[in-house]
Amino acid sequence: MTATPLDQRDREALFADLGAQCFDLAVIGAGVTGAGIARDAAQRGLSVALVEAADFASGTSSRSSKMIHGGLRYLAQGDLGLVREAASERKIVRAIAPHLAIQTPFVIGARSATAVAKLRAGLWTFEKLGGVDRDHVHEMWSAKELAEREPAMRTEGLVGALVYPEYLTNDARLTLANVMDARAHGAVVVSRAAVESFEIESGRAIAAAVVDTLPGGTSHAARLRAKVFVNAAGPWVDAVRALESGAADPRLALSRGIHIVVAHKRAPVQRTLIIPAGGGRSIFVVPKGEVTYIGTTDAFFAEAQFWPPIAREDVLYLLEAANARLSGRPLLTSDITAAWSGLRPLVAQAGKGASEVSRRDEVWTGPGRVIAIAGGKLTAYRRMAERVVDQVEKALGRRPSPCRTADSPLPGGERTPTQIRPTLSRLGDAAAARLIGLYGAAAPSVLGGARAEAAHAVLAEGALTLEDYWVRRSGRAWFSTDGGLKALEPAAKAMAPLLGWSEAHTAAEIEVCLTRRAHDMAEVIGDGDH
Ligand code: FAD
Repeated sequence: MTATPLDQRDREALFADLGAQCFDLAVIGAGVTGAGIARDAAQRGLSVALVEAADFASGTSSRSSKMIHGGLRYLAQGDLGLVREAASERKIVRAIAPHLAIQTPFVIGARSATAVAKLRAGLWTFEKLGGVDRDHVHEMWSAKELAEREPAMRTEGLVGALVYPEYLTNDARLTLANVMDARAHGAVVVSRAAVESFEIESGRAIAAAVVDTLPGGTSHAARLRAKVFVNAAGPWVDAVRALESGAADPRLALSRGIHIVVAHKRAPVQRTLIIPAGGGRSIFVVPKGEVTYIGTTDAFFAEAQFWPPIAREDVLYLLEAANARLSGRPLLTSDITAAWSGLRPLVAQAGKGASEVSRRDEVWTGPGRVIAIAGGKLTAYRRMAERVVDQVEKALGRRPSPCRTADSPLPGGERTPTQIRPTLSRLGDAAAARLIGLYGAAAPSVLGGARAEAAHAVLAEGALTLEDYWVRRSGRAWFSTDGGLKALEPAAKAMAPLLGWSEAHTAAEIEVCLTRRAHDMAEVIGDGDH
């Protein structure tokens, strides 16, 4: 199937398409959960609409730790089902989108022979449960090997380390790839389109009022009719449930997690380090191109927000934990080049702390028969989608048809990074790795720096603002040592003619990004260096 561009510019036509038919399924929210559901349903031949209140992946699905992981942590919580599912989903994401599941070793230091034995027992169980291939099983390094291979890690007090492979992804691009594939299979997909209310008839939601949230685009609206609605609104699931029932009956517990970013030369780790951070928690120190990111935290947060604050005490907690195990000059707040904060849409469990709440997903059917899904992980999004689409087909009165999302590549995943690399022979390794990680097999058509990438973002990836490109399409805001600032002007200039921006509008787009960054960095730096 040829890819259909995800162009979002013709708002009139997009809103007309939303109102033009009664869909089998309307999905509310294009984070990874909603995007995965829309892709699966469209592949099975259902007529599908996918509406997103802001930009694709602009909620939690761009704020994660960006790991497709086997769920070792769930083993400690005794949740063997989750371990099995996470481990098998990890393999599938690697097969359908190899550019979005880059294998990286994770390193855990051990302080004693007892700790080694305990960790090894855990890893063996994990490998057995997850059906881990022989060449992907863990290794044990002595303290001497650890010091030689990972000199950025302080090894005092360690007897050695356990090293095992996991995968790093780009959460926003994984979401976008699912959105693009849903579109390619015929779904009507509209961003900046928020559901504001439902029409309920005979105990069933028959339509939703959808309004354009693009600044200046408020005149567009649609009456979106569907036989089944799915609420995949992440941290806003309760708010959408309240639209359906007319009453607040919260089921979610939001947990905030932040990440900080430093130049890779300030934390020159070669692999992802897992470092204890007290209270039974650990943090990750992750190398990513020219930067290293450090995260995360886990604490309840009261309300759903697109830009939850980057709490200063969380920044200091991450710095302290990282400094305890990183060699070299201690990291200070002034070393931080970027930071992000996100909210986990967890299913509340009475009496449990944020880090103890299960990461399992749950599905509820509301009083208007709207199916709501919350909880879960990026890693298992495809399986979650499969279960929900089975339920949607049953609600449509048919037997669930086979799910094919594990067998066909996501856009960009048609070839492996090794196969793509020779097509970028003019680029150095770092630039090639960045482009392959963003675009996969499409990388050769996006050569030409920020200008070419920004134009591609508008024409093929549904970007409507400079921030869409800067934060989510290119990752420059967080993963360039300059915060992507140098790219803002060329990108804005490339987007302006395509989006009909005046000079004043173009300047305002740049200003929005600069203000965003100034705000985030002010939260990070606080009252001075620490
Ligand atoms: P979102 O991505 O928030 O999507 C919901 C969407 O609904 C939003 O885009 C929103 O704009 C839209 N919406 C809301 N209201 C409306 C409306 N009225 N109309 C239309 N649209 C609406 N998982 C992993 O597997 N690996 C990790 O390493 C990992 N790390 C994490 C670290 C942190 C700090 C956090 C916060 C989470 C992490 N997760 C991780 C979990 C993972 O990120 C989430 O489970 C997942 O992204 C949730 O996706 P979602 O689609 O349900 O929600």
